[in-house]
Amino acid sequence: MTESIFEKPTSITIDALSYLSEVLKNGLKKDLQKHQKLCEDCKGTGLQITNQRYGLSNDPDKHKHLPYNNQYIISCRGCYSGVVSLCKFCNEKLSRFNDCDCPEALHEKDIERATREQEIWDKAIKLDPSDDITKKMGMYHSDDYPHSDGYFEEFEDFIEKWEENHEPDEPKPVYVWGTRLVSLSLDADDILDRASEDLHEDVLDDVKGKEELQNYLDKWCAKQSGTTTYYGENKYAIRIPWGD
Ligand SMILES: [Zn+2]
Ligand SMILES: [Zn+2]
Repeated sequence: MTESIFEKPTSITIDALSYLSEVLKNGLKKDLQKHQKLCEDCKGTGLQITNQRYGLSNDPDKHKHLPYNNQYIISCRGCYSGVVSLCKFCNEKLSRFNDCDCPEALHEKDIERATREQEIWDKAIKLDPSDDITKKMGMYHSDDYPHSDGYFEEFEDFIEKWEENHEPDEPKPVYVWGTRLVSLSLDADDILDRASEDLHEDVLDDVKGKEELQNYLDKWCAKQSGTTTYYGENKYAIRIPWGD
């Protein structure tokens, strides 16, 4: 085995200016919109120098952790493309997620959220607790129900918990959301597909009694009542029977 001989990297400095002054000799054209300004960090160039520091395992000189560097130019971390957007209310720089927490911006966000909620509400099918669809669901959901992630089975229970946690003069919610029920199911075709992957090409044509298998699987799954899973969804809104 031959020892690798350590060769210290050659340190050079690139004449970045002659390249950049050639590339940038005509400047950078920017069409700034009303609520935009140049990024102060990169003066609108969108550029920044980064240090890619590194060390070499066979370096005899161990007194410095990452003694070498490969500097290069990256996109500015403070902006996208040299331009930052400003809040249309307070004129402050927006975050990278394009939002601002000034009162006016927060108020606008509240209005947008309320509009979205109103749309969901308008689309929902309104039901009574006594409707057949409601009864079949067996489980309902509301952010006002303080247990089980908001899922509950009995409206009396919902009402009781609400009354325990609120003053009588507080405005009561009018509706809760319905749920969709999903239980364990097994598909004979899927199972056979997977089981026959390494068998000959036409094997599925030779399988007999597929229906028999599916019937058995259905019966077996029907016994797995513990697997039933309810999903809250905004399809049905169910009136809360407060005084009924
Ligand atoms: Zn920048
Ligand atoms: Zn703002």
